[in-house]
Order: sequence, then C-alpha cells, then structure tokens
Amino acid sequence: MTTFDFDLFTLGAGSGGVAASRRAAAHGAKVAICEDRAPGGTCVLRGCIPKKLMVYASSFAEEIGVARGFGWEVSGQVDWPRLVDAKRTELDRLSLLYSRMLADAGVEFVSGRGVIVDPHTVEVDGRRYTAQRILVATGGRPWRPGIVGAELCMSSDDALDRSELPRHVTIVGGGYIAVEFAGIYRAAGCDVTMLLRDRGVLRGFDDDIRTHLAEQMVVAGIEFREHTEVESVAREGDALQVRLASGVAVATDAVLFATGRVPNTEGIGLAELGVEIDHAGRVVVDDWSRSSVASVYAIGDVTARPQLTPMAIADGRAFADTEFGGTPRTALHDGVATAVFSQPPCGTCGLTEAQARALGPVRIYRSKFRPMKYAFVGKASVTMMKLVVDAPSDRVLGVHIVGPDAPEIIQGFAVAVRCGATKAQFDATLAIHPTSAEELVTMAKPVT
Ligand code: NDP
Repeated sequence: MTTFDFDLFTLGAGSGGVAASRRAAAHGAKVAICEDRAPGGTCVLRGCIPKKLMVYASSFAEEIGVARGFGWEVSGQVDWPRLVDAKRTELDRLSLLYSRMLADAGVEFVSGRGVIVDPHTVEVDGRRYTAQRILVATGGRPWRPGIVGAELCMSSDDALDRSELPRHVTIVGGGYIAVEFAGIYRAAGCDVTMLLRDRGVLRGFDDDIRTHLAEQMVVAGIEFREHTEVESVAREGDALQVRLASGVAVATDAVLFATGRVPNTEGIGLAELGVEIDHAGRVVVDDWSRSSVASVYAIGDVTARPQLTPMAIADGRAFADTEFGGTPRTALHDGVATAVFSQPPCGTCGLTEAQARALGPVRIYRSKFRPMKYAFVGKASVTMMKLVVDAPSDRVLGVHIVGPDAPEIIQGFAVAVRCGATKAQFDATLAIHPTSAEELVTMAKPVT
C-alpha cells in the first residue's frame, strides 16, 4: 500500500481551507495546510471582517444624528487613520487566532505557495509533500478591466488599507463590494459617485431590493451614473480624471474598481495536471467537491458556487465528513441567505419574485415604512420588506429586506424558509412589538 506524508494537503488557509482541514484532523486525518500570506484568507483579512469593521465605524455618523434627535448633545467625525490602525491590530489578532486554531487541531502549517506537481504531491518552496487527497481552497482576488490608468485605481484590498479618506471617491461597479464601499465612504463624509455599466445595483437580487436600495442610496447623497463605460483614468495634479466612453470626464480623488473577482487557479499546477477549469477560470467540481482528477478536490471561491464564507465553510466540512468522517454528505447550495452591508443593509433568502414567477403563480406581499428609530430625525430613510409566496401551496419562497438590521433579521427567517414555512404559519406567529421585523408576520394583503 502506498504511504503518504499526509492524508490531506490543503492549499489556502482561508475560511474554507481552515474549516475543512480542522474537521478532517478532528476525524483523525493527518493534515497539512499551506498559505503564502497570513492565515485567515479573504474573509478575515481582506473582505467580510475588515469591511464590517469599516461599516460599523462609518455608521456612527448616522447614530450621532439619531442621538441628537433623541436629545443628546453629541457631534464628531471619524479619525480615519486611527480607525485603519485599529483595524490592522484586530486583523493581526484574528490571523494569530487562526494559526492557533490550526495548531490546536493538529494541522501542520506550511508557509509558502503550494504548487501541485502530481495527483498526490504538492511542492512548497522547493520541498515536496505527498498526500492521499489534495484540497484546493485558494480563493479569489479582485479583478479590474485593463484600461489605461488602471494602476492609479484601488481594489477593495487597497481601499481597506488606505489610511487617508478621499474627499470624493468614484466607484466602478454596482455589486456587493461597490454598494458596501459606497455606504462606508458616504457615511464617513465623502462625496461618492457610482459608475454603472448598465442600470441599477445588485444584479441578480430581487428587483424590489435593487430599486429600493438605489433609492435609499440616492437619499443618502450618492450620485449614480448609469450606462457608463470607463475608458481611462489619468492623474492631473492631486486629482484623478476618469474619462468615460461618452466623452465626459469625472474629477475625483480616488477610484475604486469593484468589478468582480477572479479565482486563484493559475500557477498552482491545476492546468498541467489536467484538472478541468471552466470559462471563468474556476475549478469544475461535482456536489461532493470532486474535481476531474480523482485525488484533487476544491471548495470556496475557486469554484462556481456562491462566493460566500459560510458556503466555503459548509462545503469544506461536508468534504471532510465525507472523505475522513465516514458520513457522506453534501452542503445545500440553493436558496442561500445572504446580506449586503450597504447603508441601509439588505437581507435576502430564497427565491426572487422573478425566479418564483418563472416556476408558477405567486402572491407578493410588500411593506414600506419609516423605522421608529428615525421618528425624531426627519430622515427620509424607508425600510422595505417583501414576501414571495407560492400561490398553490402557500409556501413562503423568498424573504427580502432593505433596512436597518436586515442582516440580523434575515437569519431567523432563512430557517423558516428552509423548513418550508407557509404564509399561514408566518401569520400564526405572534408579532414582537414594537419592532421592524414584526412587519414580516403581519402583512395581511398581497400587493399582487
Ligand atoms: P459582483 O459580481 O457582486 O459585482 C461586480 C460588479 O461589477 C457588477 O455590478 C458588474 O456589473 C460590474 N462589472 C463587471 N465587469 C465590469 C466592467 N468591465 N465594467 C464595469 N462594471 C463591471 O462582484 P464583487 O466584486 O462586488 O463581489 C464578488 C463576490 O464576493 C460577490 O458576488 C459575493 O458573492 C462576494 N461578496 C459577498 C459579500 C457579502 O456577503 N456581504 C460582500 C462582498 C463580496 P453587472 O451587474 O452589469 O454585471
């Protein structure tokens, strides 16, 4: 029988790779993980966590306004360099925690970039390690179009590390990252212009979320320019000039490209090994995270699955339970709940209205209201909540929210939708009063 150095060798110590490795080790497997940066990956070091810290930091501007409405004598503004420093310290702490979690689980950490040299061998900095199974969890990185002046622009990685706050920032794109940074910058006091190549933000989300969020962003003072194509960016003195295909130029202090992410599948031996890669450079896997090469598996943002931390963790643990725990199982990939930490934030789970209508007749319930918290501030902010209900079965297929606390509210409703709850069961659930969330169990009449 062939013996290997390890039962599992994982490439990439982000959320997915770490979760899979720890779970495999807990099942008794001998595991190593390699990483050429600090442990933690996109979520902990360049994504969800630092972004959410920035969202918290910037949201105090609104809280101060609300507090004044409630009689508090407060004012102030954010000290951005201090915030960026505090954030760095916290991320260092979290990365250390990840190292410790791996060590406590008995997973060997190998510092360096791993390259797969044959179906059972990974090379890191000239040293070769053999393993029965190899897991690719190398994540992704920001992508920007190759326009003239692209090097003058920020990616989300750069924006999170930038110590000074621009007075005016131009954001290209209208996805998750674009709307989240627009909210952070606007709340921190910057002027924000968003350049969209098409119409509207958050393509793929429910249309009411898309429309309502864009309206609220306009209320917050964010400028939208739709149907624009960026041709080039040039430095002019202290400012940047963004030239659009229409001939118009936008003067700005900083440009953030939030135009999507690409998987880290190049230069790690996948093509040479014959691992099937799709048109977007992602590893093709089946429900069991198996690639086209028997001993090689992949999870997280290197695959075509939703690019969400909990998804990578769920797939990583399912892989480890299947391969090392004797309990074959797959993670669920449909109806995934997600939150966008825009300001106001969005929470969504299940089907959009358009997806549900394509399957059959639906009833739509929708409510818009001003949260009580804003009673004394004259703020025009409005919350939107929506239920998509399958007409024949009465089953709630989708829940969509734009408004304060939406990410917190949606988690519980995601359980109800996953369990197949009906509208009648929503109605039979006593409201918690006075809250915003009670609206979801008190919507009496469908709008369509
Ligand atoms: P998204 O795919 O969400 O958005 C990309 C945006 O860029 C879209 O608006 C797209 O426009 C636009 N775009 C793409 N190419 C171009 C181009 N050449 N010129 C102009 N605009 C362009 O990517 P993100 O980078 O925002 O996020 C990546 C993923 O990371 C998300 O899909 C999500 O899964 C995950 N994420 C999750 C978060 C969360 O859970 N809160 C937070 C941040 C990221 P169009 O719509 O027209 O295609």
